[in-house]
Amino acid sequence: MRILRIFDKNTIILIIWSVNQELFEEIVKFCLETSYFVYRGQTFSQIDGMPMGGPLSPIIADLIMDHTISTVLQELPVEVIGMTKYVDDLFCMIPAGSVDTVLQAFNGFHDRIQFTVEVERDGGIPYLDTYISRNGRNLESRWYKKPSASDRMLSFYSKHPLQQKIGAAIGLIKRVKQLTTTPEVDVRQIVNTKLRINGFPQGLINGLWHKYTQTRTADQGNTQQSTEGDLIYRSITYVPRLTDQIMRILKKEIPNLHLAYKSTNQVRNLHTNMKDKIDPLLDSELVYSIPCECGRVYVGKTKQRLRDRVGQHRRSVNPKNIVIIKKEETALTTHSREHKHEFQFEDVGVLDRCTGNDGKLKFLESMHIYLTKHKNVNKHQDTEGVSTIYTTLLQRVKIRDSPPRDDESFKSCVSGNAPLIGE
Ligand SMILES: [Zn+2]
Repeated sequence: MRILRIFDKNTIILIIWSVNQELFEEIVKFCLETSYFVYRGQTFSQIDGMPMGGPLSPIIADLIMDHTISTVLQELPVEVIGMTKYVDDLFCMIPAGSVDTVLQAFNGFHDRIQFTVEVERDGGIPYLDTYISRNGRNLESRWYKKPSASDRMLSFYSKHPLQQKIGAAIGLIKRVKQLTTTPEVDVRQIVNTKLRINGFPQGLINGLWHKYTQTRTADQGNTQQSTEGDLIYRSITYVPRLTDQIMRILKKEIPNLHLAYKSTNQVRNLHTNMKDKIDPLLDSELVYSIPCECGRVYVGKTKQRLRDRVGQHRRSVNPKNIVIIKKEETALTTHSREHKHEFQFEDVGVLDRCTGNDGKLKFLESMHIYLTKHKNVNKHQDTEGVSTIYTTLLQRVKIRDSPPRDDESFKSCVSGNAPLIGE
């Protein structure tokens, strides 16, 4: 293990590594200097700072903060009595009257690393999830939430597995209790109010509170258990009741299986996507539809870029090429040739996407062919990938938000939920 210094303009980054120095330096520099992003169709190179969401960003941010603190503290003309840090939030205890000096020292370290300061009021100050207050020469803390914070957490009425709801409640109990050191604050009351607001039954809250006091022994038991045998960890999408039953059966058959529930309904799906959308024509691994002038559609899948695949379709219906490719022609070519119809290639739509799983992509194609079977030009055998188990379900399926299946809904399934190019 050695320490590497990378000098970049005014910034010094210290990194501890245990591989070949030159190679490592090259890799890090490459990662730091090649951030690109697309905004309103234009590609930009990021010349300063770290990319948001980049895997390296938090590590570098942490290193930079550590370096900033150690450098500033060495040169500071006043004594710092105590300091703690969480990412870029610092908590400092310094002599009264030296706030400006300390702030100037930190802000003088680098033009682009600038701090703001908040000073204690009435002997206390909020820091992260705590409120720190003086008690003589001691400091006391209590769990703190901003006045604007809602008391919302995972609701007991939510369609989540019971374990997750209990886990959320235990998390709250532990946090509030651990963060509160002052005996004057009624921790149990805080926990109770918040859990009741979120629909947790009083009996459960009481039980969890009681259980929390015995957590230490429970934790020790778990540690011993986990060393026994080879545990298998898998995750499974949670569907109320169904997943619980599957879980019970699997537990019996495979005792060392540890299943975690996952949800497809995630918060990030609710956020606006600020990233520029990729032109669907440049996208690959998807199921697409191409409408014909007669109102029917061709449904296909491709692993190549959609633009290339559409190009192949265009060429396949060119009268000059038909003779050559006739042997392996698609349903689109056959339809166009037999009925002398023209396909509207510019109105190609994306029906589904699936990366890195050929089987799933094939299934999605079959499913969309099945769902549009009264409207498409595809061959009957194209739906063979859908087992009869699914066809029963698909007869009732509501694809995303489209209305139940009838002739009109096929249209909405094909064009309504597909981002058509040219719209
Ligand atoms: Zn047609």
